[in-house]
Order: sequence, then structure tokens, then C-alpha cells
Amino acid sequence: MSAILLHTCCAPCASACIERLRAERYDVTLFFSNANIGSPAECALRLESVRRLAEYLAVPLMVDPTSHDDWLTYIRGLEQAAEGGARCRRCFAYSLRRTAAKAAELGMPHFTTSLSISPHKHSPTLFEEGRAADPQRFLATDFKQRDGFRRSGELARVYGLYRQNYCGCEFSEP
Ligand code: SF4
Repeated sequence: MSAILLHTCCAPCASACIERLRAERYDVTLFFSNANIGSPAECALRLESVRRLAEYLAVPLMVDPTSHDDWLTYIRGLEQAAEGGARCRRCFAYSLRRTAAKAAELGMPHFTTSLSISPHKHSPTLFEEGRAADPQRFLATDFKQRDGFRRSGELARVYGLYRQNYCGCEFSEP
């Protein structure tokens, strides 16, 4: 088995990614890195759900001590960009670079992201940013293929996971 660090945006998305990666014989570790989430309460809800999922599935979990202020600096000037546009690309870059750095620090040969399971996330853009972060380690897996998003909904119901109704930053709040 080959070790992989899975950038984890939330528990429902991670659930189906873990299932697929394990079926492909990867040894998965979760990396909760979500500096993009503007509300501390929302971040806590998502993290608590990821912790429960990690326990159910016996997957190691690491939590990135990120700072939303740093993230705001990183995306400065793009605050008003439409969702799915330049701000989101920069946001992907922020999380993927942190995940790449952690994978390198841990000596893990691969990393990838649960973000690609969402129909709202443009996988080619994610892959460009993943490769830019570390072309050797990044595994470009498009989890939304083979009905991945529907499977994440099923597993979220099975495990009783929290499902948010918006992406995460203050600019995406409903
Ligand atoms: S909408 Fe989502 S992906 Fe886009 S910048 Fe906000 S948190 Fe990041």
C-alpha cells in the first residue's frame, strides 16, 4: 500500500474519497486544512464531523493550524470574484500548497484533495494547482467521476455526517 495525504474539505466529501482510495490500495491519512472557512463555528462543525468519520473508518486525521487572516491576505483583490472563478483558484492553491508541504514533511509519496468530488469544483483547475504545488506527489484523482458525489451523499446519511449548504468563505455564504 502507498501512503496518501487526503486534503479534506468536509466529512461527506472525504467519506467517498476514502472508500475509493482504499479500494485502490492507498493508505489514507486525512488532512483537515480549511483556512478558507470564515466562520469559526462552521469550521468547528465540519471538523467535528470529520473527527467522527475518522473514528468510524479508523483513518488517521491531522488538523492544519491554519489562519483565516492569512487566507484573506492570500486572496486579496479577488474577494468579489464570482464563485468558481479566480478567487476559488487561488483558494485551491492555498490549501493544496499546505497539503503538499505537509506530505513532503511527512515523507508521503502522494497527496490529493476531496474537493474534486464536488460538481461545483472544476477538476482541471484543481489539478493545475495540485501539480503546481508539487508535480511529483500530486495524484490527480477526479472523485466526482463514477458517481462519486452521489456516493458521498449516501455515506453521509449512513454515518449521519454534517452537510453544509455553502462552500466556506464569507463571500460564499448564502
Ligand atoms: S467559494 Fe469556496 S472555493 Fe471559492 S474562495 Fe470561497 S471557500 Fe474557496
